Amino acid sequence: MTSTQTARPALRFLSADTTTGIVAYAVASQHDAKRINIVSLDTQTGATYCDCKASECYHTCWHLVAVVEAWNNEQARREVIWLTDAQLVRYGKKHALCVSTYQARTGRSRIEDRVALLVARGEYRRRVRLSLIERDALISQRAA
Ligand SMILES: [Zn+2]
Repeated sequence: MTSTQTARPALRFLSADTTTGIVAYAVASQHDAKRINIVSLDTQTGATYCDCKASECYHTCWHLVAVVEAWNNEQARREVIWLTDAQLVRYGKKHALCVSTYQARTGRSRIEDRVALLVARGEYRRRVRLSLIERDALISQRAA
């Protein structure tokens, strides 16, 4: 960012839905101090949505780019890209189990587990799409 641009408010992580694969972030409006915009990303399709004023008027807002960036940073922070295929599958299954166990026992799951599960799924889909994943990991995932 150059010094001529005004500083944009940071996106704050809000929610991760493991059923829909949608993550949501909140961001303060730059035009209305009382308004909080909600920006979401479908981690399965890459579709983005924002409820800010610009989006209401069918304009493309900077939030849509920022939400993809925020999610990419979340994935990078977890360093799943460095896991082997087998490790990635174990990582995903572990967090899927945590999500379902917490859900069954307490009625809700931990956000950390939901984010980790979505990150694992995203990395898995990326490897499948690019044909990077080992056949054994592919089979073990399908058999589960
Ligand atoms: Zn927006």
